[in-house]
Amino acid sequence: MKLVKLIANLGYGSRKDVAAMFRQGRIADADGEVLYADDQVEHAAIRIDGEPLDPPAGLALMLHKPVGYTCSTKDPGRVVYDLLPPRFRLRSPLLSPVGRLDRDTSGLLLLTDDGALLHRIVSPKAKLGKVYEATLAADLRGDEAATFASGELMLESEKTPLAPALLETLEPRRARLTLTEGRYHQVRRMFAAVGNHVEALHRARIGGLSLQDLPSGQWRALDSTDLETLF
Ligand code: URA
Repeated sequence: MKLVKLIANLGYGSRKDVAAMFRQGRIADADGEVLYADDQVEHAAIRIDGEPLDPPAGLALMLHKPVGYTCSTKDPGRVVYDLLPPRFRLRSPLLSPVGRLDRDTSGLLLLTDDGALLHRIVSPKAKLGKVYEATLAADLRGDEAATFASGELMLESEKTPLAPALLETLEPRRARLTLTEGRYHQVRRMFAAVGNHVEALHRARIGGLSLQDLPSGQWRALDSTDLETLF
């Protein structure tokens, strides 16, 4: 593929924009030598404004999602893509959230353009634990853990019971809940089903991967070590 098309497909701009970036000398190789549009160069050697070119496919990243952002591209309000470089919304293949978080939920959000990776993370068969920390409106009664672990809890308008989930009490009104599936508003609906109400919700971990010290609103690309940690 010609360099202009390749770089444009990654969302850096239209083909016209990318041709202009070549003319401005913003595209170079790893040694800083300016590249021309018809040069033959390995993808990994290309730098734009000194930064490595995003991978052509197989991009995966983590975002520390703040409250107040939705995971949709269509929402007229604030969306998680506003927290990422604009090219990530434009690139082909598209970068999609892996298991959405509600507008009012904060925490670890993964995004990828790798369909197989996405499926591997969200598939209930993979049983990858998604760990949530919930702040509740009322004290826990003490019987919720058994209800959630039973594998028999039915949520309203669902046809199948929920898979067993692990509830750990952190404080009378704070709990950690580990799910292996991801139904619509699942955590909030589970607590509603036992007569409580979630006031704040944060996803702390997916598989072995956590945000560590990534500040709220920031993102970073995942590398192969992160993917090993995840599974
Ligand atoms: N469960 C919820 O209720 N909300 C989320 O954002 C994620 C899981």
